[in-house]
Amino acid sequence: MHTAPPDPANLFARRQQVAEALRAVLPARCVLAEPEDTRPYECDGLAAYRQLPMVVVLPDSEAQVIAIVNVCRQLQVPIVPRGAGTGLSGGAMPIADGVVLSTARLNQIIRMDAYSRTAVVQPGVRNLAISDAAARHDLYYAPDPSSQIACTIGGNVAENSGGVHCLKYGLTVHNVLRVRMVTIEGEVVELGGESLDAPGLDLLAVFIGSEGMLGIVTEVTVKLIPKPSTARVIMASFSEVGAGCNAVADLIAAGIIPAGLEMMDQTSARMVEPFCKAGYDTEAAAILLCEADGTPEEVEEDIARMTAVLQAAGASAIAVSQNEAERLRFWSGRKNAFPAAGRISPDYYCMDGTIPRKRLAEVLAGIARMETKYGLRCANVFHAGDGNLHPLILFDANQPDEFARAEAFGAEILAMSVEVGGTITGEHGVGIEKINSMCEQFTAQELEAFFAVKRAFDPLKLLNPDKAIPTLNRCADMGKMRVTGGVLKFPDLPRF
Ligand SMILES: Cc1cc2nc3c(=O)[nH]c(=O)nc-3n(C[C@H](O)[C@H](O)[C@H](O)COP(=O)(O)OP(=O)(O)OC[C@H]3O[C@@H](n4cnc5c(N)ncnc54)[C@H](O)[C@@H]3O)c2cc1C
Repeated sequence: MHTAPPDPANLFARRQQVAEALRAVLPARCVLAEPEDTRPYECDGLAAYRQLPMVVVLPDSEAQVIAIVNVCRQLQVPIVPRGAGTGLSGGAMPIADGVVLSTARLNQIIRMDAYSRTAVVQPGVRNLAISDAAARHDLYYAPDPSSQIACTIGGNVAENSGGVHCLKYGLTVHNVLRVRMVTIEGEVVELGGESLDAPGLDLLAVFIGSEGMLGIVTEVTVKLIPKPSTARVIMASFSEVGAGCNAVADLIAAGIIPAGLEMMDQTSARMVEPFCKAGYDTEAAAILLCEADGTPEEVEEDIARMTAVLQAAGASAIAVSQNEAERLRFWSGRKNAFPAAGRISPDYYCMDGTIPRKRLAEVLAGIARMETKYGLRCANVFHAGDGNLHPLILFDANQPDEFARAEAFGAEILAMSVEVGGTITGEHGVGIEKINSMCEQFTAQELEAFFAVKRAFDPLKLLNPDKAIPTLNRCADMGKMRVTGGVLKFPDLPRF
């Protein structure tokens, strides 16, 4: 059982011991133990939190993953799996006395089967590399996080990642057929199968989104779908944010499922436009990007229907992409919004909460009030069709107190998301970033149920411990133990 890390004096000796044991089962080049080598792994996309890992391992094969797990289990060393480190909730943040297991070398596409429209890939394969390889069969992998050029399928599985096209085509969980993983016991287990359903309990759905806490993914079978022959995107401007939000609900209520339905407020459009020259209306209070895909006839019909709904909802201007280059240009701003934030602010804090679509207007108004309350600007650029918010809270880490204010701002957005019937995450996971907000959303019984699943897979608590599920002590310490009906059912629950 992993407990508190050893004191710094003992950490050096522990590092030597663990590195030596790992070098006994791996080629020396696969084990990094010097701080100058392990420094690049000290954080993920949540760069405000950093921790130097004790050791980093880069296995070449599943057999090596098993060997690493066996060593770590025997020595009781926690393991933090890591893909590309683009996660935004600190899921891959190291543990001081732990091993980071990077999948960087497990980057082979094992099989691409155009007939069954599937691909079998190693976990370190980049999301976009799958679609690039499938393109010769006119197929692609639909979930498309904006980080898809870098993020890995292993990370996508662990976070149940989404993207612009997930409104129509589903999240990772809807596009993965099978996961092969190594348990903390060093056993290889396959969840799901090559067909649409597999016998037995649906543990695949339990595993997808489990943030590296249940096993280490070593192989993934993904679904591929035909590339639509045509796609066009509408850019609609609104002079009021609320009208744009209501248009989102109107589109879905009209029975239209756009291939993508994204919103950017004025702050976002203005931060992105000089960077990408996407052609955005920077005078509008908000813009919506609504994509239709399919055959040319289907696209024409959907574009006409969406245009009518957007006009009825009060759009002040509507532009429709006239060719593929223009479509990609319209999307380029949205896809590059996070990096563009660096142009207007030294630091930003990206939140991720999901709310019912019909509450969008009210929640964005609430966020605007919080900008005044916390004295920080916020750019909203998000998967509007899914109700998945991504407020980018802009701050300067060199100013005393600004990060603390940004964190409090973010926590209040999440609390508001729960209040309106939503949830504290949509696609970025909980990690360490939102672990306290879990206490707001879930009761003690629910958290215990999560721990029960964790214990069933990882009784020694060695796989990415202390992430995603808060202990009841933690919730109680924060004064945020959620109690239903006034009765705390399990007052003496253990910490894990
Ligand atoms: C600019 C930018 C834009 C983004 N846009 C989106 C977006 O549109 N949609 C979205 O969903 N996310 C988005 N993200 C977040 C991030 O890219 C995703 O969460 C992605 O899935 C992380 O993949 P990764 O390979 O970088 O994983 P990492 O960050 O390395 O790890 C993420 C989690 O997965 C676990 N993990 C990694 N590999 C394995 C494995 N083999 N086995 C078990 N666990 C593993 C880690 O322990 C960690 O908990 C964005 C991030 C950035 C920086």
